Amino acid sequence: MQDLAAALTARQQQQLYRKRQTLESPQGVMVRVDGRDYLSFCSNDYLGLANHPQVIAAFKDGAERFGVGSGAAHLITGHSYAHQALEEDLAEFVGRPRALLFSTGYMANLGVVSALTGRGDRVIEDRLNHASLLDAARLSGARLLRYAHNDTEALARKLASASGQALIASDGVFSMDGDCAPVAQIQQLAQRHAAWLLVDDAHGFGVLGAGGRGWCVDQLGAGGDNLILMATLGKALGTFGAFVAGSEALIETLIQLARTFIYTTATPPALAWATRAALALVREGDELRETLARNIDYFRRQAAVLELPLMPSHTAIQPLLAGEAGRALALSEALRRRGVLVTAIRPPTVAQGGARLRLTLSAAHRPEQLDRLLQALTESYRECAHVSV
Ligand SMILES: *Cc1c(COP(=O)(O)O)cnc(C)c1O
Repeated sequence: MQDLAAALTARQQQQLYRKRQTLESPQGVMVRVDGRDYLSFCSNDYLGLANHPQVIAAFKDGAERFGVGSGAAHLITGHSYAHQALEEDLAEFVGRPRALLFSTGYMANLGVVSALTGRGDRVIEDRLNHASLLDAARLSGARLLRYAHNDTEALARKLASASGQALIASDGVFSMDGDCAPVAQIQQLAQRHAAWLLVDDAHGFGVLGAGGRGWCVDQLGAGGDNLILMATLGKALGTFGAFVAGSEALIETLIQLARTFIYTTATPPALAWATRAALALVREGDELRETLARNIDYFRRQAAVLELPLMPSHTAIQPLLAGEAGRALALSEALRRRGVLVTAIRPPTVAQGGARLRLTLSAAHRPEQLDRLLQALTESYRECAHVSV
């Protein structure tokens, strides 16, 4: 039995200890923590839908119609009219034959990869993929091969190097860097090698492309039968859950084989009902997306003038490099003292020396709030100029 207390102390000394904070308000641009109001740049609620009156009304209406608990797994009696309607809405929205709901994006990735691959197969992944895609490969028993970030030549070498069925998996928008995967090139390679391609569009869905259909649909349209789209509902859509979209045969296979779909209770139907309302807002959300794009552009232009260490991202995820974990923490603390919440991201979420502030922008941020952020960042970087650990 290991000494947990000693391991925790060591973690604290390495500035890697993680703590939660308790929100006393709804999610939003302004949040209340420990009785103090903060301007937040931490949530993935990119369009400000998590606390939207129409989504709240649909959630209440869903609870009135369907109750709270689903009471069973989808394959028993947990699959409600609300789930079915949402799956049909989602499939139609992304232009694929079918969609299947999962409780979370994490579970969707585990379910898909382990349903389609096993011992003797290969799962080929971008080095910077989300943890759930890496864990999915491990759980599947297939061989996990990782290629350098967004390097399609390295991917081509991995594809050529070994035999056996292959599944390529990539984030659409990388969650800690905010840059996008070259999915069109990846899809060409996948088709040439008769490989599956799983695109995890958690951060593109609702935000990018025509009507907010996401990075994957924007780049690949309906795609081919080898294309598997996974997107989450807890980010731009502001609710909770995830779905996988693809061919009829793929979805039927997942219903038979995806263990994270089969062996778990269906999410509350009222949640699916609320998500339908959120999806309607996303469809009509061009103005929200334009506001978000303006916010991103404004932030990047001002941050460049202030010589802040921007990374090459044009999405709502705008990381600022800090270097060592301790420096990222010190910056985050300095911002917090100024009433601004920005998360410090440290190893192992990112590589050693790659600790950063992960800022997320929302359509709900107003220009004066971005100015407040920029002012606080300038002061905090100055204050932490000599912090190196
Ligand atoms: C958030 C996220 C997930 C996990 O989705 P949940 O619904 O929160 O479990 C998966 N992939 C990526 C890229 C994510 O950012």
